[in-house]
Amino acid sequence: ISFKSLHLINPIIRAVTEAGYSKPTEIQMSAIPHILSGRDIIGCAQTGIGKIAAFAMPILQLLKKYTPEHNAIRTLILTPTRELAIQIEENFGIYSKYLPLSKLSIFEGVSAGGQLAALRGRVDILVATPGRLLDLINQRHIELSKIEMFVLDEADLMLDMGFVNDVKKIIKILPKKRQTLFFSATMSDDIRKFAEIILNDPIEITD
Ligand code: AMP
Repeated sequence: ISFKSLHLINPIIRAVTEAGYSKPTEIQMSAIPHILSGRDIIGCAQTGIGKIAAFAMPILQLLKKYTPEHNAIRTLILTPTRELAIQIEENFGIYSKYLPLSKLSIFEGVSAGGQLAALRGRVDILVATPGRLLDLINQRHIELSKIEMFVLDEADLMLDMGFVNDVKKIIKILPKKRQTLFFSATMSDDIRKFAEIILNDPIEITD
């Protein structure tokens, strides 16, 4: 199985090939076709198996396909920690090297000034931790009404870290008509209940 046979477009294949990836990992093979076809996903996935690329590559492809003229945030990735936010943004940067799409990450621990300046420019993909995102939403610096795709990363860690109410508040603001990708390293009953309220007829992916 090659990246080409997953129907990924050339600008993405070229970028990942240059990054040294020769073939898709298991989770990429199972998740990418469903994401490209517009389905919601619930994925049980540890980090280190190529999870970020499994959602980032098809998201970039879908964004490229329907690129509108308007300037609005179209994809939101929620992740629990600053380190993960930085890592996810970096991955989007690598895979979007040959695409006209821009990304930004926002998180606690740094002053909001630089993030606010960046938000005034074009942002197609926003990677955020829940706390900083809610602050900026409440201050009217971020508008999420044009979100087409939403990724909830590390859902179990979100629950463990006590972010569940913040995450629920954010989800309430998102358009109902959207594609949602849900990832968790473990699958407890609590996680499944949480997934049920935010997913629409999801495909389950396990690694
Ligand atoms: P992740 O699970 O997304 O944190 O990815 C773990 C590591 O695998 C990262 O360093 C990625 O750059 C790398 N990676 C992701 N997909 C592939 C692939 N198809 N081939 C080789 N390395 C990959």
